[in-house]
Amino acid sequence: MSLGSNLGNRRFYLEEAIRLLDEAFGIHYKALSSMIETEPWGFESTDKFLNAVVMYELDFPDIFSPERAGEAILDICKEIEHALGRNSGPMYDKDGRRIYSSRTIDIDILFLGNERIETERLSVPHRLMRCRDFVMTPLREIASESIISTFKDIFN
Ligand code: ADP
Ligand code: MG
Repeated sequence: MSLGSNLGNRRFYLEEAIRLLDEAFGIHYKALSSMIETEPWGFESTDKFLNAVVMYELDFPDIFSPERAGEAILDICKEIEHALGRNSGPMYDKDGRRIYSSRTIDIDILFLGNERIETERLSVPHRLMRCRDFVMTPLREIASESIISTFKDIFN
């Protein structure tokens, strides 16, 4: 998962998000990247981001499809964003283009094992990660060999 914050006590929000993810999943994360400071991506602001990538080893019941497991994880991410004071969902301009803005916390799902998921609410692997250095740099620190070899196009 990718974590980002550019409002308030950014380190606190990242650490708190990880604590709440541990609590929701009922396990401690398997790997955590360093926290790096990055420029806002997709919008102008003087509030720089702090970004990190965290990895969990999750088991889901066999009856869960990857889509169902992914959406359950997405719901947990959205709940934690809400609990940490992120106040709005995505916004769009009149031409339907995405408007990015400052946020206390953003939690995105990067991979779910070797699965590829495409639903209305969820795309995995995350569509934009390969063009976002703020994701790829911390991700490279902790990505497993299996993920790197399955998704060569992303890591190239
Ligand atoms: P962003 O992360 O692009 O700044 P949001 O966190 O508001 O914006 O996410 C917008 C929507 O993207 C979410 O409501 C979610 O349904 C959708 N989405 C699609 N794929 C993913 C993913 N892999 N991880 C997180 N959200 C995703
Ligand atoms: Mg997000």
